[in-house]
Amino acid sequence: MNPAVETQLRSQLAQRRNRLETTIAEVGQQKDLVDLLHEVDRALEKMTKGTYGSCETCHESIEEERILADPLCRNCLDHLTEQERKALESDLDLAYQIQAGLLPKKDLPVQGWGIAHHYTPAGPVSGDYYDLIVSPHEPGSVYFLIGDVSGKGVAASILMAHLHAIFRSLVSMKLPVNQLVAHANRLFCEGTMSAQYATLVCGKATESGQIELCNAGHCPPLLRRSRGVKRIESTGLPVGLFMHSEYDVTRMTVEKGDTLLLYTDGLTEARNPSGEEYGEERLVSLLDRDGGHAPQDLLTACLKDLSDFRSTAPRADDLTILALRCE
Ligand SMILES: [Zn+2]
Repeated sequence: MNPAVETQLRSQLAQRRNRLETTIAEVGQQKDLVDLLHEVDRALEKMTKGTYGSCETCHESIEEERILADPLCRNCLDHLTEQERKALESDLDLAYQIQAGLLPKKDLPVQGWGIAHHYTPAGPVSGDYYDLIVSPHEPGSVYFLIGDVSGKGVAASILMAHLHAIFRSLVSMKLPVNQLVAHANRLFCEGTMSAQYATLVCGKATESGQIELCNAGHCPPLLRRSRGVKRIESTGLPVGLFMHSEYDVTRMTVEKGDTLLLYTDGLTEARNPSGEEYGEERLVSLLDRDGGHAPQDLLTACLKDLSDFRSTAPRADDLTILALRCE
Protein backbone atom coordinates (compact mmCIF):
# COMPACT_ATOMS: atom_id res chain seq x y z
CA MET A 1 0.00 0.00 0.00
CA ASN A 2 0.93 3.68 -0.39
CA PRO A 3 3.84 4.31 2.10
CA ALA A 4 2.55 7.79 3.09
CA VAL A 5 -0.86 6.35 3.96
CA GLU A 6 0.77 3.52 5.90
CA THR A 7 2.92 5.96 7.90
CA GLN A 8 -0.19 7.95 8.76
CA LEU A 9 -2.09 4.81 9.76
CA ARG A 10 0.83 3.63 11.87
CA SER A 11 0.87 6.81 13.93
CA GLN A 12 -2.93 6.73 14.19
CA LEU A 13 -2.83 3.13 15.44
CA ALA A 14 -0.02 3.89 17.89
CA GLN A 15 -2.10 6.74 19.37
CA ARG A 16 -5.16 4.53 19.61
CA ARG A 17 -3.07 1.84 21.28
CA ASN A 18 -2.13 4.34 24.00
CA ARG A 19 -5.78 5.27 24.53
CA LEU A 20 -6.68 1.61 24.74
CA GLU A 21 -3.95 0.91 27.33
CA THR A 22 -5.08 3.87 29.43
CA THR A 23 -8.67 2.63 29.32
CA ILE A 24 -7.63 -0.91 30.28
CA ALA A 25 -5.62 0.49 33.20
CA GLU A 26 -8.76 2.35 34.35
CA VAL A 27 -11.50 -0.23 33.83
CA GLY A 28 -9.53 -3.45 34.22
CA GLN A 29 -8.69 -6.34 31.87
CA GLN A 30 -12.03 -6.59 30.02
CA LYS A 31 -11.89 -9.33 27.38
CA ASP A 32 -13.11 -7.22 24.43
CA LEU A 33 -10.58 -4.47 25.20
CA VAL A 34 -7.70 -6.91 25.59
CA ASP A 35 -8.65 -8.66 22.32
CA LEU A 36 -8.73 -5.31 20.58
CA LEU A 37 -5.29 -4.46 21.96
CA HIS A 38 -3.96 -7.73 20.53
CA GLU A 39 -5.46 -6.89 17.16
CA VAL A 40 -3.84 -3.46 17.15
CA ASP A 41 -0.49 -5.04 18.09
CA ARG A 42 -0.89 -7.56 15.31
CA ALA A 43 -1.49 -4.75 12.75
CA LEU A 44 1.52 -2.77 14.05
CA GLU A 45 3.67 -5.90 13.87
CA LYS A 46 2.63 -6.44 10.25
CA MET A 47 3.64 -2.86 9.46
CA THR A 48 7.09 -3.61 10.86
CA LYS A 49 7.36 -6.84 8.87
CA GLY A 50 6.07 -5.15 5.70
CA THR A 51 3.02 -7.41 5.31
CA TYR A 52 0.42 -4.85 6.36
CA GLY A 53 -2.42 -4.39 3.85
CA SER A 54 -2.27 -7.92 2.42
CA CYS A 55 -5.19 -10.31 2.70
CA GLU A 56 -4.46 -13.11 5.22
CA THR A 57 -6.18 -15.62 2.94
CA CYS A 58 -5.00 -14.86 -0.60
CA HIS A 59 -2.12 -12.44 0.16
CA GLU A 60 -3.38 -9.97 -2.46
CA SER A 61 -3.76 -6.29 -1.48
CA ILE A 62 -6.80 -5.37 0.56
CA GLU A 63 -8.92 -2.58 -1.00
CA GLU A 64 -7.38 0.71 0.22
CA GLU A 65 -10.71 2.41 1.03
CA ARG A 66 -11.55 -0.50 3.33
CA ILE A 67 -8.23 -0.20 5.16
CA LEU A 68 -8.80 3.51 5.58
CA ALA A 69 -12.24 2.83 7.05
CA ASP A 70 -10.95 -0.01 9.22
CA PRO A 71 -7.15 -0.18 9.68
CA LEU A 72 -7.58 -3.53 11.47
CA CYS A 73 -9.24 -5.32 8.56
CA ARG A 74 -7.41 -8.51 7.65
CA ASN A 75 -9.04 -9.88 4.55
CA CYS A 76 -9.88 -8.63 1.09
CA LEU A 77 -13.56 -8.38 0.09
CA ASP A 78 -13.42 -11.83 -1.50
CA HIS A 79 -12.21 -13.44 1.72
CA LEU A 80 -14.30 -11.95 4.49
CA THR A 81 -15.04 -14.13 7.47
CA GLU A 82 -18.69 -15.13 7.96
CA GLN A 83 -19.01 -12.53 10.73
CA GLU A 84 -17.44 -9.78 8.58
CA ARG A 85 -19.67 -10.67 5.65
CA LYS A 86 -22.80 -10.47 7.82
CA ALA A 87 -21.69 -7.12 9.26
CA LEU A 88 -21.06 -5.76 5.75
CA GLU A 89 -24.44 -6.97 4.54
CA SER A 90 -26.25 -5.38 7.43
CA ASP A 91 -24.38 -2.08 6.86
CA LEU A 92 -25.41 -2.14 3.21
CA ASP A 93 -29.03 -2.91 4.13
CA LEU A 94 -29.04 0.03 6.47
CA ALA A 95 -27.41 2.31 3.87
CA TYR A 96 -30.05 1.19 1.37
CA GLN A 97 -32.87 2.02 3.78
CA ILE A 98 -31.39 5.40 4.64
CA GLN A 99 -30.97 6.25 0.98
CA ALA A 100 -34.46 5.05 0.05
CA GLY A 101 -35.80 7.36 2.75
CA LEU A 102 -34.17 10.34 1.02
CA LEU A 103 -35.95 9.82 -2.30
CA PRO A 104 -38.97 11.97 -3.09
CA LYS A 105 -42.45 10.46 -2.71
CA LYS A 106 -43.90 8.78 -5.80
CA ASP A 107 -47.04 10.89 -5.99
CA LEU A 108 -46.00 14.34 -4.86
CA PRO A 109 -48.90 16.60 -5.94
CA VAL A 110 -47.65 19.60 -7.90
CA GLN A 111 -50.13 22.11 -9.38
CA GLY A 112 -49.89 22.32 -13.15
CA TRP A 113 -47.41 19.47 -13.62
CA GLY A 114 -47.58 15.74 -14.11
CA ILE A 115 -44.41 14.18 -12.75
CA ALA A 116 -42.99 10.66 -12.95
CA HIS A 117 -39.63 9.36 -11.81
CA HIS A 118 -37.72 6.13 -12.03
CA TYR A 119 -34.65 5.11 -10.06
CA THR A 120 -32.66 1.88 -10.01
CA PRO A 121 -29.31 1.67 -8.22
CA ALA A 122 -26.72 -0.62 -9.85
CA GLY A 123 -25.83 -2.07 -6.44
CA PRO A 124 -27.48 -1.84 -3.02
CA VAL A 125 -26.91 1.94 -2.92
CA SER A 126 -26.45 4.58 -5.57
CA GLY A 127 -24.51 7.71 -6.42
CA ASP A 128 -27.42 9.11 -8.40
CA TYR A 129 -29.17 12.03 -6.82
CA TYR A 130 -32.64 13.32 -7.48
CA ASP A 131 -35.20 15.24 -5.56
CA LEU A 132 -38.45 17.14 -5.91
CA ILE A 133 -39.13 19.92 -3.43
CA VAL A 134 -42.27 22.04 -3.39
CA SER A 135 -41.14 25.64 -2.89
CA PRO A 136 -41.72 26.72 0.72
CA HIS A 137 -42.50 30.26 -0.51
CA GLU A 138 -44.57 29.49 -3.59
CA PRO A 139 -46.65 26.31 -3.11
CA GLY A 140 -47.38 26.29 -6.88
CA SER A 141 -43.69 25.92 -7.74
CA VAL A 142 -41.50 22.87 -7.54
CA TYR A 143 -37.74 22.48 -7.53
CA PHE A 144 -36.49 19.46 -9.42
CA LEU A 145 -32.97 18.12 -9.09
CA ILE A 146 -31.05 15.32 -10.67
CA GLY A 147 -27.36 14.53 -10.42
CA ASP A 148 -24.62 11.99 -10.52
CA VAL A 149 -21.91 11.84 -7.87
CA SER A 150 -18.37 10.75 -8.76
CA GLY A 151 -17.55 7.17 -7.80
CA LYS A 152 -19.90 4.35 -6.90
CA GLY A 153 -21.25 2.42 -3.97
CA VAL A 154 -21.45 3.50 -0.37
CA ALA A 155 -18.96 6.38 -0.69
CA ALA A 156 -20.99 7.89 -3.55
CA SER A 157 -24.25 7.36 -1.66
CA ILE A 158 -22.88 9.37 1.27
CA LEU A 159 -22.08 12.25 -1.10
CA MET A 160 -25.55 11.91 -2.56
CA ALA A 161 -27.02 12.28 0.95
CA HIS A 162 -24.78 15.31 1.45
CA LEU A 163 -26.12 17.01 -1.71
CA HIS A 164 -29.65 16.13 -0.69
CA ALA A 165 -29.21 17.90 2.66
CA ILE A 166 -27.50 20.91 1.06
CA PHE A 167 -30.31 21.55 -1.45
CA ARG A 168 -33.10 20.82 1.05
CA SER A 169 -31.63 23.56 3.28
CA LEU A 170 -30.89 26.02 0.48
CA VAL A 171 -34.34 26.10 -1.16
CA SER A 172 -35.71 28.05 1.78
CA MET A 173 -33.42 30.95 0.76
CA LYS A 174 -35.61 31.99 -2.20
CA LEU A 175 -32.69 32.30 -4.63
CA PRO A 176 -32.59 31.90 -8.42
CA VAL A 177 -31.51 28.37 -9.34
CA ASN A 178 -28.04 29.37 -10.58
CA GLN A 179 -27.30 30.96 -7.19
CA LEU A 180 -28.64 27.89 -5.42
CA VAL A 181 -26.14 25.82 -7.40
CA ALA A 182 -23.31 28.30 -6.70
CA HIS A 183 -24.03 28.06 -2.94
CA ALA A 184 -24.33 24.27 -3.12
CA ASN A 185 -21.00 24.15 -4.97
CA ARG A 186 -19.21 26.07 -2.23
CA LEU A 187 -20.76 23.97 0.54
CA PHE A 188 -19.92 20.78 -1.33
CA CYS A 189 -16.30 21.95 -1.88
CA GLU A 190 -15.94 22.77 1.81
CA GLY A 191 -17.44 19.52 2.99
CA THR A 192 -15.80 16.93 0.73
CA MET A 193 -12.39 15.74 -0.39
CA SER A 194 -11.03 17.47 -3.48
CA ALA A 195 -11.34 14.45 -5.79
CA GLN A 196 -15.10 14.32 -5.35
CA TYR A 197 -17.61 16.12 -7.49
CA ALA A 198 -21.10 15.83 -8.88
CA THR A 199 -22.77 16.79 -12.13
CA LEU A 200 -26.28 18.07 -11.63
CA VAL A 201 -29.27 19.94 -12.93
CA CYS A 202 -31.24 22.19 -10.62
CA GLY A 203 -34.49 23.59 -11.97
CA LYS A 204 -37.67 25.25 -10.83
CA ALA A 205 -41.07 24.98 -12.53
CA THR A 206 -43.95 27.31 -11.75
CA GLU A 207 -47.64 26.58 -11.97
CA SER A 208 -47.94 28.86 -15.01
CA GLY A 209 -45.36 26.93 -17.05
CA GLN A 210 -42.21 28.98 -16.43
CA ILE A 211 -39.06 26.93 -16.05
CA GLU A 212 -35.69 28.12 -14.90
CA LEU A 213 -32.87 25.65 -15.03
CA CYS A 214 -29.17 25.47 -14.29
CA ASN A 215 -27.08 22.64 -15.69
CA ALA A 216 -23.77 22.02 -13.90
CA GLY A 217 -21.96 19.63 -16.22
CA HIS A 218 -24.81 17.10 -16.37
CA CYS A 219 -26.28 15.24 -19.38
CA PRO A 220 -28.48 17.80 -21.20
CA PRO A 221 -32.15 17.67 -20.21
CA LEU A 222 -34.46 17.33 -23.22
CA LEU A 223 -37.52 19.49 -23.73
CA ARG A 224 -40.13 17.89 -25.95
CA ARG A 225 -42.58 20.32 -27.53
CA SER A 226 -45.07 19.79 -30.35
CA ARG A 227 -42.47 21.18 -32.78
CA GLY A 228 -39.59 18.94 -31.78
CA VAL A 229 -37.04 18.16 -29.07
CA LYS A 230 -34.58 20.73 -27.70
CA ARG A 231 -31.44 19.96 -25.65
CA ILE A 232 -30.66 22.17 -22.71
CA GLU A 233 -26.90 22.39 -22.72
CA SER A 234 -24.69 22.48 -19.69
CA THR A 235 -23.73 26.02 -18.73
CA GLY A 236 -21.32 25.31 -15.91
CA LEU A 237 -18.80 22.98 -14.33
CA PRO A 238 -19.80 20.10 -12.05
CA VAL A 239 -20.15 21.08 -8.39
CA GLY A 240 -17.22 20.29 -6.11
CA LEU A 241 -14.44 21.11 -8.58
CA PHE A 242 -13.74 24.80 -7.91
CA MET A 243 -14.87 26.81 -4.93
CA HIS A 244 -15.80 29.93 -6.93
CA SER A 245 -17.54 28.54 -9.99
CA GLU A 246 -20.36 30.66 -11.38
CA TYR A 247 -23.45 29.32 -13.09
CA ASP A 248 -25.89 30.58 -15.71
CA VAL A 249 -29.58 30.09 -15.77
CA THR A 250 -31.72 29.08 -18.76
CA ARG A 251 -35.31 30.37 -18.69
CA MET A 252 -38.17 29.15 -20.83
CA THR A 253 -41.93 29.10 -20.97
CA VAL A 254 -43.57 25.82 -21.82
CA GLU A 255 -47.07 25.02 -23.03
CA LYS A 256 -49.56 22.39 -21.97
CA GLY A 257 -48.39 18.98 -23.17
CA ASP A 258 -44.68 19.93 -23.28
CA THR A 259 -42.45 17.51 -21.42
CA LEU A 260 -39.05 17.97 -19.83
CA LEU A 261 -37.00 14.79 -19.51
CA LEU A 262 -34.01 14.59 -17.17
CA TYR A 263 -31.81 11.53 -16.74
CA THR A 264 -28.44 10.28 -15.58
CA ASP A 265 -25.79 8.73 -17.83
CA GLY A 266 -26.93 5.25 -16.75
CA LEU A 267 -29.49 5.76 -19.55
CA THR A 268 -27.50 7.22 -22.45
CA GLU A 269 -24.28 5.34 -21.67
CA ALA A 270 -25.93 1.92 -21.28
CA ARG A 271 -24.36 -0.59 -23.65
CA ASN A 272 -25.67 -3.48 -25.70
CA PRO A 273 -23.84 -6.83 -26.04
CA SER A 274 -21.76 -5.46 -28.98
CA GLY A 275 -20.56 -2.61 -26.78
CA GLU A 276 -22.52 0.18 -28.51
CA GLU A 277 -23.95 3.02 -26.41
CA TYR A 278 -27.68 3.70 -26.17
CA GLY A 279 -26.87 7.36 -26.84
CA GLU A 280 -28.68 10.65 -26.77
CA GLU A 281 -29.84 10.41 -30.39
CA ARG A 282 -31.92 7.31 -29.69
CA LEU A 283 -33.42 8.99 -26.64
CA VAL A 284 -34.31 12.08 -28.70
CA SER A 285 -36.15 9.94 -31.30
CA LEU A 286 -37.99 8.08 -28.56
CA LEU A 287 -39.03 11.36 -26.98
CA ASP A 288 -40.10 12.72 -30.35
CA ARG A 289 -42.27 9.65 -30.85
CA ASP A 290 -43.64 8.98 -27.33
CA GLY A 291 -43.15 12.32 -25.58
CA GLY A 292 -46.82 13.26 -25.93
CA HIS A 293 -47.88 10.53 -23.49
CA ALA A 294 -48.46 10.95 -19.78
CA PRO A 295 -45.12 11.07 -17.88
CA GLN A 296 -45.52 7.60 -16.40
CA ASP A 297 -46.26 6.10 -19.85
CA LEU A 298 -43.28 7.94 -21.30
CA LEU A 299 -41.02 6.44 -18.61
CA THR A 300 -42.43 2.97 -19.25
CA ALA A 301 -41.73 3.38 -23.00
CA CYS A 302 -38.25 4.65 -22.24
CA LEU A 303 -37.40 1.73 -19.93
CA LYS A 304 -38.74 -0.76 -22.44
CA ASP A 305 -36.66 0.76 -25.24
CA LEU A 306 -33.58 0.67 -23.01
CA SER A 307 -34.16 -2.95 -22.07
CA ASP A 308 -34.73 -3.92 -25.77
CA PHE A 309 -31.49 -2.15 -26.67
CA ARG A 310 -29.43 -3.63 -23.84
CA SER A 311 -30.76 -7.12 -24.45
CA THR A 312 -28.54 -9.55 -22.51
CA ALA A 313 -25.83 -7.01 -21.58
CA PRO A 314 -25.58 -6.51 -17.80
CA ARG A 315 -26.59 -3.22 -16.20
CA ALA A 316 -23.45 -1.36 -15.16
CA ASP A 317 -24.56 1.97 -13.74
CA ASP A 318 -27.20 3.60 -11.57
CA LEU A 319 -30.18 4.84 -13.53
CA THR A 320 -32.47 7.75 -12.79
CA ILE A 321 -35.07 9.31 -15.09
CA LEU A 322 -37.40 12.17 -14.29
CA ALA A 323 -40.21 13.43 -16.54
CA LEU A 324 -42.22 16.62 -15.95
CA ARG A 325 -45.14 17.42 -18.18
CA CYS A 326 -46.97 20.75 -18.20
CA GLU A 327 -50.69 20.04 -17.71
ZN1 LIG B 1 -8.19 -12.30 -0.22
